[in-house]
Amino acid sequence: MMDRFLHTATDEEIAEGKTTDVYFARTRQVLEKTGLGEKKVVMELTSHELPRNWSWAVLTGTVELIRLLEGLDVDLYIMREGTIFRPKDDYGVRVPVGFIEGRYGEFCVFETPALGLICQSTGVSTAAARLKMNVMNKPIVAFGARRMHPAIAPMLDWAAYVGGFDAVSTVVGAELLGVQPTGTMPHSLILLSQDQVEAWKAFDSVVDKEVPRILLADTLCDEKMESLMASDALKGRVSGVRLDTPSSRRGNMPEIVREVRWELDVRGHHDVKVFVSGGLTEESVMELSEAGAEGFGVGTSVSAAPVVDFAADIVEIDNKPVAKRGKLSGKKQVWRCEECLSFQTTLFEREIQDCQSCGGKPEPLLYQAIHGGRIVTKLPTPQEAREYVLAQIGSLPP
Ligand SMILES: [Zn+2]
Repeated sequence: MMDRFLHTATDEEIAEGKTTDVYFARTRQVLEKTGLGEKKVVMELTSHELPRNWSWAVLTGTVELIRLLEGLDVDLYIMREGTIFRPKDDYGVRVPVGFIEGRYGEFCVFETPALGLICQSTGVSTAAARLKMNVMNKPIVAFGARRMHPAIAPMLDWAAYVGGFDAVSTVVGAELLGVQPTGTMPHSLILLSQDQVEAWKAFDSVVDKEVPRILLADTLCDEKMESLMASDALKGRVSGVRLDTPSSRRGNMPEIVREVRWELDVRGHHDVKVFVSGGLTEESVMELSEAGAEGFGVGTSVSAAPVVDFAADIVEIDNKPVAKRGKLSGKKQVWRCEECLSFQTTLFEREIQDCQSCGGKPEPLLYQAIHGGRIVTKLPTPQEAREYVLAQIGSLPP
């Protein structure tokens, strides 16, 4: 047994292939002895269906995948970070999101971490994008770090932000993204003070003036009363009130939001926005938004999103098409019509000129990211990837 501070693998261990399933390590020994590891293969990454009946997903984790494979003698073709894809094309053929080409012995032990990087991240980004779609013009902050292992907080924040969220709450996640972390105040501050007004005033006097004054308004009394107290206490400086009502008190959260909004307006607090957090889902944010909520903190439903199970399969050996039962052989390209977002998977060399659905111009989605172990693309910033996601979401059919 090996003692560790946390039960996580280090970057070095991952890069050395130590998180692999042992059967790959054993296979590599056999390949080395027999020389079979010298055979050049194409291994594609596909998912045959998406969780929760999602019809599309947002591919993320590709930047980490590129870094993982950098330095190995392989080529990698992959969709851009943030590409919206469907598991199957319009003709029922699986859509590969990428493929690795090279001597199998060179990269076989990296199948486990390569899949893990895109499976989890893609699930989180897809859940974030679906939520964002429902409230496009209102800010959503990723609050879900506390439900997951802290070692992956930066990865979760990246995935949620690229998926379309507007901000993240963890310090380390914000550093990775190059943005300011966002947050309000915890219930503990109010409880330690035993007086809401004193707590809000203390926060206001201590915390940097740049930080928006969003005051937690549900700790000791009713949301309506505390929202009015907060708006009066720091008159003119309150950006918003946050309602994080516990489930035992949630008769009807949209109605609570509607009532708070009304009473704030009646007293002239039109600038005080109502933010809601706690157990939010893609359905509930829509109802709360209609009731007047103007910002959301979303945790578990995104940070603990279901994984998208990608599989890695050999489809070509020494330039000849080969595949196991149930998979289509041959190195492939994926074409997406930018007009109607229809998909077509073809053999890699084939060119598609016109979209068969609308006559639009399809674009190839798999681009070369690694050539002979060298990164041959500019890695996207999280902001670029996020803009790409938002632009695609905007043109998705309802
Ligand atoms: Zn089309």
